[in-house]
Amino acid sequence: METRFGPSGNSLSFYQQGHKSSVEAPKWLADMGLSAYEYSCTKGVKIKKDTAARIGDEANKYDIALSIHAPYYINLASPDSKKRDNSVNYIIQSLEAARWMGAKRVVFHPGACSNMDRGSALELALDTLKRVINEADDMGLGDIVLCPETLGKLNQLGSLEEVLRMCRVDERLLPTIDFGHIHAYTGGGLKTYEDYKAALDTIEEALGMERLKHMHIHFSRVEFTKGGEKKHWTFADTQYGPEFRPLARAIIEKGLKPIIICESRGTMAEDAKEMKEIYESVINGR
Ligand SMILES: [Zn+2]
Repeated sequence: METRFGPSGNSLSFYQQGHKSSVEAPKWLADMGLSAYEYSCTKGVKIKKDTAARIGDEANKYDIALSIHAPYYINLASPDSKKRDNSVNYIIQSLEAARWMGAKRVVFHPGACSNMDRGSALELALDTLKRVINEADDMGLGDIVLCPETLGKLNQLGSLEEVLRMCRVDERLLPTIDFGHIHAYTGGGLKTYEDYKAALDTIEEALGMERLKHMHIHFSRVEFTKGGEKKHWTFADTQYGPEFRPLARAIIEKGLKPIIICESRGTMAEDAKEMKEIYESVINGR
């Protein structure tokens, strides 16, 4: 499998051109030279089985790798046991939708630290994650890859180290490395090729080369404050980091084949295409 690029959700231009349904997205993306698409269930898993299957057929036809982003309100570390139960259910619902669609990956936000210290919150999240994995296996959904995501706000549970710890619960898990979030979480810590390479080396040490190679990536320019992530911007908003080019170089030099999803605001497909062009220009030594 080659490195793939695609958007999270649909660009504004997709709708401006008269498209109404995500069923039309795979062809639209393939026409732009893209090969991945993250379907957003961030406000709840509301997609109907029939629609999911139609998106899946189109993605198959146009060679688009599908993933699903699970609801934002998942919190594996909630102090409220009912909310942890619900979080397990939201991830299972996302896995079911992934099955209908033929999506191979489900991305989710681990949660927040609430009033706990980080260590206790992480322990609780690991316990809830194990329940998710057991339930997924019982339901025959264990082949769909769970991808916990690095988060951008300091009070969230999802530093790089925390996500890597979660991935060590089961060797089937892959990390979603959101470099915009890491940049925000670390107060602007991703600037140079060396910064990116250090992050990739950390992942390799924790999970091994195979999982690093096939990891899931989110990328966008992110504005941040003292508390971390504030807002996602577009590639045109160059006053905000991080930059993709040094990451492209680190990915290429390590021989990785990730799926790279762009989460720009409104121009996610266009910016995914720009990332692909930057990536190819680095390969060609330009
Ligand atoms: Zn996310």
